[in-house]
Amino acid sequence: MEKISIYGFTKEELINWFIEHGEKKFRATQVWEWLYIQRVRSFSEMTNLSKQLITVLEENFIINPLKQVIIQESQDGTVKYLFELPDKNMIETVLMRQEYGLSVCVTTQVGCNIGCTFCASGLLTKQRDLTAGEIVAQIMEVQHYFDERQEDERVSHVVVMGIGEPFDNYDNLMGFLHVINDAKGLAIGARHITVSTSGLVPKINEFAENGLQVNLAISLHAPNNEVRTSIMRINRSFPIEKLMAAVDNYIEKTNRRITFEYIMLKEVNDRPEHAQQLADLLKNKKKLTYVNLIPYNPVSEHDQYSRSSKADVLKFYDVLKKNGINCVIRREHGTDIDAACGQLRSKQIKKEKKATAK
Ligand code: SAH
Ligand code: SF4
Repeated sequence: MEKISIYGFTKEELINWFIEHGEKKFRATQVWEWLYIQRVRSFSEMTNLSKQLITVLEENFIINPLKQVIIQESQDGTVKYLFELPDKNMIETVLMRQEYGLSVCVTTQVGCNIGCTFCASGLLTKQRDLTAGEIVAQIMEVQHYFDERQEDERVSHVVVMGIGEPFDNYDNLMGFLHVINDAKGLAIGARHITVSTSGLVPKINEFAENGLQVNLAISLHAPNNEVRTSIMRINRSFPIEKLMAAVDNYIEKTNRRITFEYIMLKEVNDRPEHAQQLADLLKNKKKLTYVNLIPYNPVSEHDQYSRSSKADVLKFYDVLKKNGINCVIRREHGTDIDAACGQLRSKQIKKEKKATAK
C-alpha cells in the first residue's frame, strides 16, 4: 500500500491516530512541532522520539510527497515551482513577494473539470483531486526553500487559486485550511488566506457555515448570464441569480467581504455597459464586496481572447468607481515566467509529448 503524507493530517486527526496506535497524545504534538515549527524533512531528525516510534512513523507515512521538477525565479521575485506527484502527475505552485509578505498560490486538483474557455488549467480534464497532504506540501516546499537559504522569511499569505476548482475538492481543501491555520504550527491567519471558486453554489453555502474566517473570492468574469455562459459553462448550472443568492447568504451568515474576480477580456466583457451591469449587480452589497480587475494572461490554446487595452480597463474602473463599487486593478506577477495558473505545467507536458513523439 502506498504511504500517505503526514501533512494531510490535522492536529486532531494526528492525535487520534497516535491514540489509536497506543501512543501518548503529547507525542503527536511533538511530531506536529517538528513538522511545522522546526520544519524537519525526515522522521529521523525528530530527536526527542524513540527509535521505535520513528520506525512506526516511517512505516506508515511519508512526509513530503512532492518532487521538484522546475523552479523558475522571475525578475520581480516571483518563484514558480513545478512539482511531480507520486503518480507522476504534475502540478504547479507560485510564490509572490508582496509588500505585506510572502504569498503562495496553491493547486488543488490535477486539471480542472469546470472548463472555462480562457483558462490553461481547464485544458486538461481533472485527473484526480489532490490530497490534503499534497496541498499542504506545496506550502512546506516553499517554506523549506526559504529555510534552506536561511532567509528568515515566513509564508504569511495563501491564495487557493492554482490549478483546479477548490470547492470540487471540498473536504481536502478544508483539511488543508485547518493544517495551515493551526496556531501552534504554520499559524497562517485565516484572514490571510483566500479561496477562489468559479461559483459552485452549494459549496459556497457550506463554506458560509465553516466557522473559519477565511476570505472568499468568486470568479465572476461577466456581468450577465449570456456573456458568463459563453466563457464559463458552470454558469449553466449556477447562473448569476443563484450565485448572487449564495453571495447574499454568505454575507448574511459571516458578515465578511467577498471579492469578485473579473478578467478583462478584450471586446468580450470589457465594455462600459458591462461595467454598468456589474455595478447594478452589486449595488445592494457595496459595503461587503470588492471587485478585482485582472489582466488576462494570454493562453496560446485560447487565442480567441486577448487582453483589454489599458484605456478600456481604466474606463471600466471609472464606471465602477462612479457607482461607488470598491475596485482595484490587479498588479501582475511573474509574467516573464508563465505565472498564470496552469501555464508552466501545460508547457512542460507539451515539451514531454514532443520528446516522446520524436
Ligand atoms: N478554479 C478556481 C480557482 C483557480 S483559478 C476559480 O476559477 O476561481 C484562479 C483565478 O485565475 C480565477 O479567477 C481564474 O478565473 C483566473 N484565471 C484563469 N485563467 C486565467 C488567465 N489566463 N489569465 C488571468 N486569470 C486567469
Ligand atoms: Fe477551473 Fe478555475 Fe480554470 Fe475555470 S478558471 S477552468 S474553474 S481553474
